[in-house]
Amino acid sequence: MIDEKLEPLLEQVLHRNPGEPEFHQAVREVLESLGRVVAKRPDYIEHALIERICEPERQIIFRVPWVDDKGQVQINRGFRVQFNSALGPYKGGLRFHPSVNVGIIKFLGFEQTFKNALTGMPIGGGKGGSDFSPRGRSDGEVMRFCQSFMTELSRHIGEHTDVPAGDIGVGGREIGYMFGQYKRLTNRYEAGVLTGKALFYGGSRARTEATGYGNTYFTKAMLATKDQSFEGKTVVVSGSGNVAIYSVEKVQSFGGKVVAVSDSSGYVVDEAGIDLELLKEVKEVRRGRIANYLELKGAGGGAHFVKGGEGSIWDVPCDVAMPSATQNELTGKDAKTLVSNGVVAVGEGANMPSTPEAIRIFREAGVMFAPGKAANAGGVATSALEMQQNASRDSWSFDKTEARLAEIMQTIHDNCASTADEYGAPGDYVLGANIAGFVRVADAMRTLGVI
Ligand code: GLU
Repeated sequence: MIDEKLEPLLEQVLHRNPGEPEFHQAVREVLESLGRVVAKRPDYIEHALIERICEPERQIIFRVPWVDDKGQVQINRGFRVQFNSALGPYKGGLRFHPSVNVGIIKFLGFEQTFKNALTGMPIGGGKGGSDFSPRGRSDGEVMRFCQSFMTELSRHIGEHTDVPAGDIGVGGREIGYMFGQYKRLTNRYEAGVLTGKALFYGGSRARTEATGYGNTYFTKAMLATKDQSFEGKTVVVSGSGNVAIYSVEKVQSFGGKVVAVSDSSGYVVDEAGIDLELLKEVKEVRRGRIANYLELKGAGGGAHFVKGGEGSIWDVPCDVAMPSATQNELTGKDAKTLVSNGVVAVGEGANMPSTPEAIRIFREAGVMFAPGKAANAGGVATSALEMQQNASRDSWSFDKTEARLAEIMQTIHDNCASTADEYGAPGDYVLGANIAGFVRVADAMRTLGVI
């Protein structure tokens, strides 16, 4: 329910941003949490802070022309939404996926603003990307696309202005091509302009692992509030990118058993526990499909594959669910199945993977629920650590970086939990994350005048 004082604000967002359902969904969810804040702090309404936060500072849309391997000119659309820079330079990933449009980038930029605030680090929020699909493209095609994308993007970014990173479809390879092009265009070795770089040109150790590790640390902290742990728990992790792979690794190290992973083609169930090395071989080395896991494991290995559309990964019974694929992948129906199979906790590795109905069902069933903007903040937090290392021309050990990450995740967890307590909703991490993130951004904006 939205507080009546905030209703007109939501109406305005819907009116100003037609045809952007994901953005509307993200705004509605935050506004639903803010009723309790405006009751205590009417000045947020007086100074139009919520209204300002819902409006991106700048939205850039551009043409990305490039030449494919057949010599054919291809056109994609590029985006960068610079959402909020009250706390620091815009910071957030680039997503290359055919589903990308301005509404999706706006929802991601909006979420990123609160997520980045929750890390406690000096980073604003932004997001970008393109409807380009790297799938099935040669290295040369990906490079030419990235160079063309950066040719336009370069004029809008900088280490003190806007610092992009990866997201779905953008990994180390794409960041490398974009950094190379930025360096040529500007004639500056500005390491802090992008994060997610490889180690030898200014990347940070543990950045690749950070989102998955971070979600696992957060979920572990949440379980601990009810004297529970991952030890002996059955876990399902959707997705099979960086976030999923390194969640599997961390969950296993905490004694949990991950029994299923997925990609857009379907999901694999391995009752013996997902073989991490095999998963890495399929996804990181061969850049293959999840079905290849079975081929490599061999017949009689005890695993099976379910094709996309013929079932949902959330039908697989588990104690802990970690949706780490994409937005709205976990529906109300899935949530009901999970609840009837006895799920105790959900940690969101992806951005907004649970639909509003799913979240309501978890809440009503008393399932511990960690929203993505808090639980998956480890990736961007480690990006901020990468910026810190770049600024001081330093390179930290894996252990030091991971220890910082673990500490940050515990702090985010505790901040969300204590904010929920303070606002009369103990255990409600959605409310805690939305309020704690909002208050930090709003107070910074208030201090900086009408910006
Ligand atoms: N794309 C990631 C996210 O959703 C990371 C962003 C970054 O490192 O800047 O938070």
